[in-house]
This record gives sequence, structure tokens and C-alpha cells, in this order.
Amino acid sequence: MTSSTELNPDVVVRFAPSPNGLLHLGHAYAAMMAHDFARQRGGQFLLRIEDIDAGRSRPEFVTAILEDLRWLGLNWESEVIFQSERLDSYAAAAERLKAMGLLYPCFCSRADLRQLQEEGALADGPDGPIYPGTCKHLDPAIAMKRVANEPHSWRLDVEKAVGISGPLQWMDERHGKQIATPERLGDVILVPKESPVAYHLAVTVDDARDGITHVVRGDDLFASTAIHRLLQALLELPTPLYFHHRLLLDETGRKLSKSRESASLSVLRSDGVSGHELMHNLRQGMFPVGISLSRG
Ligand code: GLU
Repeated sequence: MTSSTELNPDVVVRFAPSPNGLLHLGHAYAAMMAHDFARQRGGQFLLRIEDIDAGRSRPEFVTAILEDLRWLGLNWESEVIFQSERLDSYAAAAERLKAMGLLYPCFCSRADLRQLQEEGALADGPDGPIYPGTCKHLDPAIAMKRVANEPHSWRLDVEKAVGISGPLQWMDERHGKQIATPERLGDVILVPKESPVAYHLAVTVDDARDGITHVVRGDDLFASTAIHRLLQALLELPTPLYFHHRLLLDETGRKLSKSRESASLSVLRSDGVSGHELMHNLRQGMFPVGISLSRG
């Protein structure tokens, strides 16, 4: 571990995996990009475990993540951060947005939305179908009565939020200056029915809390940044710089994913592959057969 007193305070980067599966090569690449970004600038590299989804997070995946990163030779500063220990700060942020009149309860089930999607009634956004705003138009008194008795999530009223924030921009060190267009993702869920907080809210609160200066992550999260930028404005949080990197693709041109059972790092590790050699190859842009880097 490096002593944090010797480090450049202007660069604080994090790797923020969710422990809901085993890490694969795509994660090794993402962890390396964040780690090397910090180290090349003499900055700090933090590890934050995004274990907010109690239904999907597993302690054995946390153990595997730590072992995989050590095997790859990536070191982080200070204690590992766990989002599950910070639920109060997410609840406080959600309450603040509620008090601003920017969240509304949503009673739609996944099945309701799936049906609408099958009927072709949902517009496509960069992150999947856009919520049609069904519950936004409920009578507030009726909605509040239902809140007491029915499972519900809380959605961000993006139109109203943008009305308050005004136009927003953010800077990506790879893609250049961006105009934030959170409307393209629609009224995202910030407090899900079945877990205490959604990714967008937790990550925004934590990047500020951890003093992250540069968010280095994959292009798959590029579109989400518009929502994070909006939340920063609403919650008066600082805006970091961003660097969205290319993704590793499989032989069919799709990004590697946990659900598609792409070769996990723990399997490579137990097969006797050298983590240092793997990192060396990834740094040289040498990928295993069938794996390539996305363009653009
Ligand atoms: N926890 C997120 C994931 O595993 C990444 C969060 C981020 O880098 O913003 O996909």
C-alpha cells in the first residue's frame, strides 16, 4: 500500500464493482484503466464495493473481487469502501429530492412494463426502454394513500428536475465536452421497491463523498453520466471529470458480461494463469483469442 501523504491530492480515482457475480476480463480491463489512470498521475486509487442490492450481492463475490484484484497486482489506498454501510446518506439524499418535489412514487410492476414494451408502447433510451410516466400523473392524494399500502419505487421527475437545474455540461477526457441530456433516460428509479437505493443515486452521492476527481469507467456507463450530472446539480455536489474507456468485446461483438458467463478471473486464477502477465498483456493491448476492444 502507498502512503496517502505522498499522493497527488488532485487525482482520486475509484474502481467500483458490484459483488453480484464473478469478475471477468472486462472488469480486469476496467480496474486496470482506473488504477493506471491514478498511478500515472501520482494520485489515489480507491476500491468501493457497490453492494446496495442485498438480493444480488454476495459476500463470496466480495472475497473473490479482492482476491482477483490482488492477483492482478492492483493495490488500492486505505480501507475498502462498502456502500451497504452508507445507506443513511443515500436515504438523506432521497429525502432531500423528495422535499424538492422531484421524486414521485411508482407502483408499476416489472410485468406491467414488460407488457407495455411487448406492445411497443415504450420508447427506446440509451439504457433500455423509457418509463412512460404512468404514475407521474396519479392524483397526489391517491398516490400518497397507496404509498402506505403498496410496494413502490421512487422515480426522478426528470423534466421538473431539468427545469430547476437548467442546462448542464460535463467533461470527458476521451470524448470531449458533453451537454447533459438526462431526458434521454427518462424518469429513472432512484429508490427501488426491493432495495434501499438505486445505482444512479448511490454512485453520485459516493463519488462526491469519496472526493473522486476523475470517474474512470467503461463506455457502457457513458449515458448514465447525464443523470449523475443532474443529481450533482440538484444535490449541490461537485462534478468530477470523466474518462469513459473502451470495452472488451467477445467474438460476437458484444460486451463481456457476468450473465453471459464470460471467462471469470477466478477461473483463470485457479487454472494457473499469471495475473501479472495478464495485466501486462492488457496494457499492451494484447487480448485472448476472440476478445477485442470496442471502437469509437
Ligand atoms: N457498480 C457499477 C458496475 O459494477 C459501476 C459503477 C461506476 O463505475 O460508476 O457496473
